[in-house]
Amino acid sequence: MALRDFEVETIELLWRDTDFINGCWIYRAGWTTDSGYKKISLGHRKLEEFVHRISANVFLGLSLYDKTLQVNHKIECPRKDCWNPSHLYIGTNADNMRDRYLLGGYKKKKFCINGHFFSEENTRLVPRTRNGKIYKEKTCKICNSDSSNRYRKKKRGTLHE
Ligand SMILES: [Zn+2]
Ligand SMILES: [Zn+2]
Repeated sequence: MALRDFEVETIELLWRDTDFINGCWIYRAGWTTDSGYKKISLGHRKLEEFVHRISANVFLGLSLYDKTLQVNHKIECPRKDCWNPSHLYIGTNADNMRDRYLLGGYKKKKFCINGHFFSEENTRLVPRTRNGKIYKEKTCKICNSDSSNRYRKKKRGTLHE
């Protein structure tokens, strides 16, 4: 079965079951995947698709065929199940990883990139800006100390061998 682009009818279908929460469009029906995204099944096509991908296909012109590109949520959107096209952008997996790292630094991240626990004593919040918005990134005090910088360089050296 060939994939084909979604149409306005699909969007109208989504609209009927969508809650609008702080600018986010949250689809009530369908189901949420383990990773927190919302999926629906379009019965007549026997097709499962993510609602944010449908949205990006219709509103942002995402090609469903190009597997190198994916739909990412902008860093200011707090919901993975949101399908508001103004909260989405088409990017790469690297973009997504960067956003998740930045977001993680802001609230969820428990460990630094070198695996140190972000305890209260070990965490310093550093203000950063992205897309004109200010957020605070967690930084690791252990990593910022000289001894572990040496350790990190050594470790990086081994990885590249
Ligand atoms: Zn949103
Ligand atoms: Zn660290």
